Amino acid sequence: MSASDIETRLAELKQQYVLRLRNDLQTLIAQTRVMSTREGVIEVGALESVRQGLHRIAGSAGSFGYPEVGRDAREMEVWLQTLIEARGVPAPSMLGALHERLRDVHRLLDASPATVVREPESGYRAESGDRAVRVGLLVDAERESLTQALAGFGYECRALPQDATSTWQPDVIIVDTAGQYATSWQPIAEQSRHAVRVLLSDSGDFAARLQAVRDGAQGFFTHPLDIPALERRLRHLVSLPQQDPYRVLLIDDDEALAEHYRLTLKRAGIESRVVIEPADVLTGMRDFVPDLVLIDINMPDCSGPELARVIRLDDDWLRVPLIYLSAEHDANRQAQALAQAGDDFLVKPISDVSLVAAVTARAQRSRQLSLALARDGLTGLIKHPAIKDLIEIEQSRSQRTGASACVVMIDIDRFKSVNDTYGHGTGDYVIRLLANLLRQRLRRVDHVGRYGGEEFVAVLPSCSLADAHEAIERIRVSFSQLECIAGDQIFQATFSAGIASTLDWTDAEALLEAADKAMYEAKQGGRNQVCLARPEA
Ligand code: GH3
Ligand code: MG
Ligand code: MG
Repeated sequence: MSASDIETRLAELKQQYVLRLRNDLQTLIAQTRVMSTREGVIEVGALESVRQGLHRIAGSAGSFGYPEVGRDAREMEVWLQTLIEARGVPAPSMLGALHERLRDVHRLLDASPATVVREPESGYRAESGDRAVRVGLLVDAERESLTQALAGFGYECRALPQDATSTWQPDVIIVDTAGQYATSWQPIAEQSRHAVRVLLSDSGDFAARLQAVRDGAQGFFTHPLDIPALERRLRHLVSLPQQDPYRVLLIDDDEALAEHYRLTLKRAGIESRVVIEPADVLTGMRDFVPDLVLIDINMPDCSGPELARVIRLDDDWLRVPLIYLSAEHDANRQAQALAQAGDDFLVKPISDVSLVAAVTARAQRSRQLSLALARDGLTGLIKHPAIKDLIEIEQSRSQRTGASACVVMIDIDRFKSVNDTYGHGTGDYVIRLLANLLRQRLRRVDHVGRYGGEEFVAVLPSCSLADAHEAIERIRVSFSQLECIAGDQIFQATFSAGIASTLDWTDAEALLEAADKAMYEAKQGGRNQVCLARPEA
C-alpha cells in the first residue's frame, strides 16, 4: 500500500464516518425525544443505550476531525453516567434539554467542515542501502587503532571533513571532546548536522554524561575505548530505522475507528492487525506475534480487562505490553482496569501524532526486552537453545527445497591462555570482538549464536559448502589480524572452524555433530584454520 493509497483510504474512512456520525446522532435524537415526552417510568436500559451511543461518539469523533462534537458527547455521557449510577430518575425536562443539545450538535456537524489535522513529516523512513556505514572521526588519541578496528568491522572511516562543501557525508561522527579538539570541535561537528554523534571523553562521571547529552550525543564512551562496545553502539544507532516494522494488534469493536488507527500507524511504518471479535484474540496473537496490544475497554461481549486477563493466562505473551485505548476518562475506573491486568492507558480520542508516538515508544521497549531475553548478555548473540531450534528449521527447509544450508562451529584457539595471560576481562573482550565481527561480516539472513564459553555457531541458509568456506575463511583471516588490546599490550587471537552442509546430513543433531568434528580436525591440523565436513563415501 503506497503513501497516497493510505491517504485516499483515510479520506474515504472519514467520509463514511461522517455518515455514521449523522446516523448515530439522529438515533440519539429520536431516543431522547421519545423519553422526554413519555409519561411515567423511564427504563434504565433505555438510558444506558443512550449513554453507549454517546460513548461511541466521544471516543471517535476527535480522531476523524470533529473534536468539538466529541467533547460535547463526552459531557453528555458523563452527565448520564452519573445519573445512572445514582439510580436517579431524570425529569422529562432534563431529557428535553439533552434532546435539544443533541440537535445542536447535529446542526454543528452540518455547519462546520471537519478540521484538517496536519501531521508533521514523519522521520521513520530512513534511507537504507548496501553501502558501508560512513564514520567521520575527530579524534587524536587512539585514532589509528580505532580506524583499524572499525574498518575491520566493515565501516568506512575518515577524518571528519572540515569544510561544508565536502561530498563525503558521514552517517556517524565520533568526536573526542578531550585532547586536541576540546575547544574547537563543535563548529566542525556542526558541518555534519545529520550525522549521529558519538562523543568520547576522559571522564565518565554524571556531569560529563549530562554535558554529552546537551551536546547532542547519542553515544558516550571514555578512554581507553572499549571497541566492541563502541561498535555495538554504532550498529545499534545506524541500524535502528531499518529493522522490521513494529507490529501492533488492535482490538476494538468500532471497525471504522480501528481501521483509522491501522492506517495512521501504517503511515508511520508500523504494521497492525485489527481484531473485532474478542474471541479471535488468541489466534491473532499467535499468527501475528505483536510487539504491543491495544485494547478497547468497552466492548459488547467481553470487557477489555477480561480480555487482557485472557491474554495474561499464557506465559508466551508476558513480554507483550497490553495497553488500553479507551474513551474512559474516569481515573478510578482506569485504575480498576489496570488493577485487573494491562500495563497502561491511552485515552480516546487520541490525536494521530500522539498515537504513533505512544505506540512507537512502547513497541520499541517491548522489542528490546524480547531481544534481551533470547540473547546472550555478553555478546548479544542468540542463546544456545534458540540457535538449535534454528538449525532444525533450516534443516527441514533445506529438505523441502533441496537447497543447501550450512552450519558452522567456531572455537577460539588456546583461549585458556588468553584468560591466564591477560585476565578474564580481556577474555570477555575477545569473545565480544569475535561476536561482533561475525555479525558484521555474515549476511542479514544468517543466524549467529553463542554456543558455549568461546564457542559460536552460525547457521547460513541458502548457502553452498564452498560459499560458506569462502566466507568463514575471510572472517578467519580478518580476526587473526585484529589487534586485541589489554592495557598497554597488544596481542592477536585466532579461531578454528568446521562447516557441514544440510545436503550431507539430514538430521539436525548429526549435522551439528559433523560441524563439531570438522572443527576438531581444524584444531588437530594446527588451529587457525577452517575444515569442511565430508560425508563418508
Ligand atoms: P583450544 O584451542 O583447544 O580450543 O584451547 P582452549 O584453551 O580454547 O580450550 P578450551 O575450549 O578447553 O577452553 C576454553 C576456556 O574458555 C575455558 C574457560 O575458562 C574459558 N571461558 C569459557 N567461557 C568464558 C567466558 O565467558 N569468558 C571468559 N573470559 N572465558 C571463558
Ligand atoms: Mg572450547
Ligand atoms: Mg577454544
